Amino acid sequence: MNVESMYQEIILDHYKNPRGRGAISDPAGESHQVNPTCGDEVTVQVTTDDSGHLHVGYEGQGCSISQASASVMAEMVEGLDPTEADAIRAAFLDLMHSKGAAEPDEDVLGDGIAFAGVAKYPARIKCALLPWMALQDAEAKAGITVTDEGADRR
Ligand code: ZN
Repeated sequence: MNVESMYQEIILDHYKNPRGRGAISDPAGESHQVNPTCGDEVTVQVTTDDSGHLHVGYEGQGCSISQASASVMAEMVEGLDPTEADAIRAAFLDLMHSKGAAEPDEDVLGDGIAFAGVAKYPARIKCALLPWMALQDAEAKAGITVTDEGADRR
């Protein structure tokens, strides 16, 4: 199996078997994001527990890329320190803006590496980024702050 079809398999798997989908109880922040060019919608809810770790839930509809990206996002950031989650978000943004030239780091991105192929198609980049934009906005609304130290670590 070549890399492209392996990436497609990962995306399809997250689309068919979404991780972390559903509302969370008592969200501290919520963000609804729409990608009108494709018709994708994602609502992300976040909160933090007593130790400051993130808990994330989402609902959405749209193309396989947007919904698989939401599933990957929820799986990757669940239970993390917000600063760690932000480093993953930054790495995913870098990958999506790489025009397909970047070597994705599986240690950082997990199944997010599957979107390396999507980065070659400008029309689909917004689909992949939608849930991560919703996450950032939901965190901001929840008053969850990320330290500068984390931003430097990317
Ligand atoms: Zn889409």
